[in-house]
Amino acid sequence: MPLLVMKFGGTSVANIDRIRRAAKRVGVEVAKGYDVIVIVSAMAGRTNELVGWVEEISPFYDAREYDAVVSSGEAVTAGLMALTLQEMDVPARSWQGWQVPLITTSAHSAARIEDIPTDNINTKFAEGMRVAVVAGFQGISPEGRITTLGRGGSDTTAVAFAAAFGAERCDIYTDVDGVYTTDPRITEKARKLDKIAFEEMLELASLGAKVLQTRSVELAMRYNVRLRVLSSFEEQSDDAGTLVCAEEEIMESNVVNGIAYSRDEAKMTLISVADRPGIAAAIFTPLSDAGVNVDMIVQNISEEGRTDMTFSCPTNQVARAEKALTDAKKKGDLNFHDLVADTNVAKISAVGIGMRSQSGVAAKMFQTLRDEGINIKVISTSEIKISVLIDRKYLELAVQALHDAFGLDKVA
Ligand code: ADP
Ligand code: ASP
Ligand code: MG
Repeated sequence: MPLLVMKFGGTSVANIDRIRRAAKRVGVEVAKGYDVIVIVSAMAGRTNELVGWVEEISPFYDAREYDAVVSSGEAVTAGLMALTLQEMDVPARSWQGWQVPLITTSAHSAARIEDIPTDNINTKFAEGMRVAVVAGFQGISPEGRITTLGRGGSDTTAVAFAAAFGAERCDIYTDVDGVYTTDPRITEKARKLDKIAFEEMLELASLGAKVLQTRSVELAMRYNVRLRVLSSFEEQSDDAGTLVCAEEEIMESNVVNGIAYSRDEAKMTLISVADRPGIAAAIFTPLSDAGVNVDMIVQNISEEGRTDMTFSCPTNQVARAEKALTDAKKKGDLNFHDLVADTNVAKISAVGIGMRSQSGVAAKMFQTLRDEGINIKVISTSEIKISVLIDRKYLELAVQALHDAFGLDKVA
């Protein structure tokens, strides 16, 4: 039988009513003749609550136990979804990650999927089961411990299952009806895109547009999975939502196609480090060993052999970063006068594959922010994106102004 993967995010399974509504959507596809693999997230807010408990115990928690705790949210939803389907007389069974087993690397809290054996679930399909409900976000390491795939990881579980089982399509049901030119919660002028290119979606996701986890887009691109984002709250036709697809499938497009933001950024500056060969390695090796995800890096001009080094990382990794750097200083691997953390910054990015061939985007972005009186703290660019760090209090204003400036509310 043809197979579909349907993924339901946290808000789509926030309570029993919503789980029933999602199950009904699944029932519609089953009635059309599809076998379905349903991937579920934890009920809305649950993962945050679990993470909060872990962090309350220690900011330097053991990532193995973090995974043991935070994976539990999805386990609950999977069972509830299977029960709901059974009540509707749809033959369904649930699987947790380790039961599949979905094998991952041992990188706890940010594990990567290595293998999804299909025999277990396929045997059940052959026996007449119509829906396999799988807990998203989680797997099992080669050492036999539960792992998680990073926040938003159920998207990645869904795409990986679609690839492994050769599903006709991977539908991501969420609380918005597709991918927009920017987060529709920030400006009502945000426009829904019918299609978006893998490359652009990849950039938007990695720059903070949490509608899809970055890794899920990477996998869809690599395995050519037909990936669709749509709303679980509306009746859906077969071409609803946004299709994430190859660039060649897209007819019209603006130079800038999306504005992404990441709210929880921190800017850290090491004041007065010796400007000598090996200094960057001395700073960023301990940070990497401590699991800090460094994003932007700027080294200032040096004066009398000393310089300042600035980098950004997620706000919740500041404590880790501070510890790693002060430990390195104590060991004598590194010397600096002071370490200053600014935890009130946000990153705003403009993304578009059109930037490859058109210049002037950076200038326009900087002029727009200037006109709003917004100071830029750090800049970074790549082939199809420009990012800036600004004060967090200007986040909404900056996104709205850039959305207007680049005319994203309509197709050029
Ligand atoms: P789920 O729980 O279904 O996985 P998420 O909260 O992870 O949902 O992702 C959906 C949210 O992503 C939306 O509610 C929206 O606020 C946010 N979002 C950010 N950028 C975009 C964008 N460009 N298009 C659509 N949604 C976006
Ligand atoms: N529940 C996890 C999270 O909130 C995974 C997911 O929903 O995709 O990050
Ligand atoms: Mg999500």
